[in-house]
Amino acid sequence: MVNAIKIPFLDLITPHTELQEQLIARFKEALQTACFVGGSAVEDFERDFADYCQASHCAGVGSGTDALRFALIAAGVAPGSIVVTVPNTFIATSEAITQAGAVPYFVDVDERTYNMNPENLREFLETECITTDHCTIHRITGAPVAAVVPVHLYGQMADMDPILEMAERFNFMVIEDACQAHGAQYFSHNQARWRTAGSMGKAAAFSFYPGKNLGACGEAGAVTTNDPELATKIRMLRDHGQSSKYFHDIEGYNGRLDSIQAGILRIKLARLTEWNTKRRANAVRYSDLLSTQTAIIKAPYEPSWSRAVYHLYVVQVEARDRTQQQLAAAGIGTGIHYPIPLHLQKAYLGLGSRAGVFPVAEAAARRILSLPMYPELTGEQQQRVVEGLVNAVNQASVDQLSLARSS
Ligand SMILES: *Cc1c(COP(=O)(O)O)cnc(C)c1O
Repeated sequence: MVNAIKIPFLDLITPHTELQEQLIARFKEALQTACFVGGSAVEDFERDFADYCQASHCAGVGSGTDALRFALIAAGVAPGSIVVTVPNTFIATSEAITQAGAVPYFVDVDERTYNMNPENLREFLETECITTDHCTIHRITGAPVAAVVPVHLYGQMADMDPILEMAERFNFMVIEDACQAHGAQYFSHNQARWRTAGSMGKAAAFSFYPGKNLGACGEAGAVTTNDPELATKIRMLRDHGQSSKYFHDIEGYNGRLDSIQAGILRIKLARLTEWNTKRRANAVRYSDLLSTQTAIIKAPYEPSWSRAVYHLYVVQVEARDRTQQQLAAAGIGTGIHYPIPLHLQKAYLGLGSRAGVFPVAEAAARRILSLPMYPELTGEQQQRVVEGLVNAVNQASVDQLSLARSS
């Protein structure tokens, strides 16, 4: 084989090798002080991460899923209400909605950005719901639309201006799923300035799962918000509803961010701007390399109002599964985010949806392929990925043709 050296989909070894001494020092400090839960390490990280997101508050929690669930509950999403999101996301988005007691509704996405299409949201609110002075309720069930969760998928922010305008007009809250978008930016024409993911909604959820742009060495997450009361509620929810030790004002959860992870995240946060810059540069390089292949490979689209942080670099190809197999055989790792839209998952058969209801998300799910993307990826590796991809796409279409002929 020509290219014997593999190109992994993700490289979690290099950044940790580089930071090894600092990370070990943090771990030793935790052992020496035995401060494993809470304390200044958590508070220091929370302050730094709030600043990074240009939000006034941050509460560290156990995972991105905790962050979403606590944000919805703390924002006041009542049991039985509707929370609208998109079908092409990780299931944690809708799990959190259900676990907050609400019912997930989906609206289809924009075919170029893969993010919530505001027009589809508007159509849902105008045709399937009725708006009174105080709220918007579903015509058939009568359930109120409490919140909308736009997902900043692949590291690119959803089109927030129209969604926030609708939030005013239809009386719902916006909770950002920023689990893939640490540091992503959006130019708000309404506010005439760039805004950072995590600063625009009522609250935002972040995940620090190891593979995210900012990843812990284990599980972790955070909620950011500009609302001090909401931040206080999240701090109670993550800690068994305690307002102070053994005073439980409400029932909560065990969903804290531990001190070792907080310390590790703070060390890594100092590198995040540099890492995101490298990811953006890698995205530009991929897109340049792909610019002559637009007939067979669709590259990601970044609107002028977006500065994406490329958690994933996702292309579309025709014979995706065969292409992926070919690439794997050539030693190039890829992923699919996500192969089955949520409304078609077994877990959601009960919601009564069916194939064909969200055509954009469904078509994308058949064609999307995530290429290797991380700060350490080199230009030479990217060239090999694109060469491998072009070969694989061509080979896959030949294979499919002969398969069709022989059957
Ligand atoms: C990773 C992720 C989550 C969940 O985060 P965890 O930390 O794994 O709980 C939620 N939503 C999206 C879009 C994600 O990518």
